[in-house]
Amino acid sequence: MSDSAAACATLNQSVAKLSGVGPAVEKLLAKIGIRQIIDLLFYLPMRYEDRTRITSIGAAQVGQRVVIEGVIELADIVFRGRRALICNISDGTGVMALRFFYFSNAQKNNLRRGSRIRCFGEVRFGARHKEMIHPEYRVLKDNDSQVLEKALTPIYPVTEGLHQARLRQFIGRALALMRTTQLPDWVPAEVLTELGFPDIDQAVLMVHAPPAEISIDQLNGGTHPCQRRLAFDELLAHHLSLRLLRERLQNDPGPVLRGTGQLIERFYRHLPFELTTAQQRVVGEILHDMDSCRPMLRLLQGDVGSGKTVVAAVAALRAIECEAQVAVMAPTELLADQHLRSFEDWLTPLGITVAGLTSKMPAKIQREALQSIKAGVADVVIGTHALFQERVEFANLALAVVDEQHRFGVHQRLLLKAKGPAGLFPHQLVMTATPIPRTLAMSAYADLDCSVIDELPPGRKPVQTVVMSEQKREAVVARIAAACAKEQQAYWVCPLVGESEVLDCEAAEVTAANLQSELGRLSVGLIHGQMKPAQKERAMADFVAGKIDLLVATTVIEVGVDVPNASLMVIENAERMGLAQLHQLRGRIGRGERSSTCVLLYKPPIQGNARKRLEVIRGTTDGFVIAEEDLRLRGPGEVLGTRQTGRLQMRIAEVVRDSDLLPVVQRAAERIMRRHPSNIRPLIDRWIDAQGQYGGV
Ligand code: ADP
Ligand code: MG
Repeated sequence: MSDSAAACATLNQSVAKLSGVGPAVEKLLAKIGIRQIIDLLFYLPMRYEDRTRITSIGAAQVGQRVVIEGVIELADIVFRGRRALICNISDGTGVMALRFFYFSNAQKNNLRRGSRIRCFGEVRFGARHKEMIHPEYRVLKDNDSQVLEKALTPIYPVTEGLHQARLRQFIGRALALMRTTQLPDWVPAEVLTELGFPDIDQAVLMVHAPPAEISIDQLNGGTHPCQRRLAFDELLAHHLSLRLLRERLQNDPGPVLRGTGQLIERFYRHLPFELTTAQQRVVGEILHDMDSCRPMLRLLQGDVGSGKTVVAAVAALRAIECEAQVAVMAPTELLADQHLRSFEDWLTPLGITVAGLTSKMPAKIQREALQSIKAGVADVVIGTHALFQERVEFANLALAVVDEQHRFGVHQRLLLKAKGPAGLFPHQLVMTATPIPRTLAMSAYADLDCSVIDELPPGRKPVQTVVMSEQKREAVVARIAAACAKEQQAYWVCPLVGESEVLDCEAAEVTAANLQSELGRLSVGLIHGQMKPAQKERAMADFVAGKIDLLVATTVIEVGVDVPNASLMVIENAERMGLAQLHQLRGRIGRGERSSTCVLLYKPPIQGNARKRLEVIRGTTDGFVIAEEDLRLRGPGEVLGTRQTGRLQMRIAEVVRDSDLLPVVQRAAERIMRRHPSNIRPLIDRWIDAQGQYGGV
């Protein structure tokens, strides 16, 4: 057995082999994903505390967690709002107030004037002095030999019944075992040397037991070279896992679609506009992929209104030209209907059959649609999730277009495989309206190639955005009246406020009724998620036809809706909405010749992130800038949406903070795949547990 194999054997043993780990503890550890001894080594602290030194009260800064020591000057029960025990202590450099809301008599009696006390806690602002609320403390005896910690204290995420001290003890035992053996390093030595990273065992040891002289700020900031090394490994493991997924997806051949281009030419001749340079470039990338026997896996990014639909239509034409079928999947009925209309307008004149399929369609129509899909009569099928159902059989599906992909998961994409003709995997074009910050695209979407439409169609006027208190509502209503008098159309967006969609829709109904009575002569329409598909379709059709002046809507219109004549949008309670959502909503206007205005109404007072969000939206219409801000304000898990968070739940790496590592990770991954393929699996297993691995790869 080689050294590293021997080490593996020891460290790969069950945690039950460690002293102190009985069946009950074993269960608790399993709950936090620790089964083998080695798992303890890779169970990483979330932050650190410094209990190695005493900070003088004068130097202790608000927000820091520190040890202080001083003499009790006063201990008293006060009733200011709430009964509390206050204990002022001084060390000659300043006074710190300790505040206890829960305390026993014995505790109070123990805090006697003149006693020396040592405390650990977070420093806060207080009325007169700095404060600590419920600090840990110890009243010192005359010859107290209470010593300070030698190393900085790691704080781990724990689970009920398993305390920090206990967990720390087990990790300590695992570290001792690691010292006697050797932890295998799956990152090749040449990569480590090139990047100047420490060895794996050195890094693991440091993060669990950092020496006192290391800066706690650096550790809590996650920038120590040993932390960076581990973050690198983790990002690398995630990246490799996505690459494996991609390889698996591309294992089966895709249909080679090499058309004559005549159909696309005819389409271009009928189209009332010319593609922008960016659209043309992206079309080129897509057609190139479809011309290959490797199934396309491409993410099409473009800001709202950049014209992704027409690009998808061109891709569809290439498949149809080769006598194959296309499926277009939208996240909502509303959007599916709209795509259906666009595709019908564009493609029916060319003799192409377009069919719709949603779960809310009447059964009879559904059956007919299913038949025409199976028989190959329908060239393009447009629908919602219903397209994934088992009973949907295609005659010859060669291309799947998935719109607004953040609502579709990896697993649904895998389902597509079953829909293709025997042995062939349909090409996939995934479109997203919310631009994905580069950092996220590089980490969470390593399994997709990426095309970006970075140019808006000509003649678009940027939307002007104003932020107003809802107290100015009357003036806003007057503005709508004035705009609609000039043949313009407007949206009034009601937020989702309640616990239930039903209540939200009722609220929208009330708003619509009120606005109708305020606006008298104008025609006010309503659309919300609780309406029947036919009602929704009717409302949208009336709005498109100009029969409705003002459309009151819940956020159902967030994604995709395209009515170029609408040039004014009012968003109520905008302070409650996220950046991506606001950007999406606003993207519904500014699509026509006129200059457009978006009014964000808020309920005062607003502060903090809510205020920042409105400022960001007012300040820019650039979706990529907004996406970066969103990422900063909310973090990657939120930005990607719940379905994707699994991809970014990391132990030590943080995509935003560690974004500079991403290109390095990419290069290292290439090298490992080429030269050390056998290291890939153990590296992935070390960092990602079985459920977290993408698509079960
Ligand atoms: P999104 O990228 O948000 O899905 P759409 O595909 O809905 O955007 O396109 C927005 C609008 O712009 C549509 O009305 C579409 O017909 C129009 N459009 C798309 N490309 C162009 C272009 N090159 N020139 C002019 N208008 C275009
Ligand atoms: Mg769209």
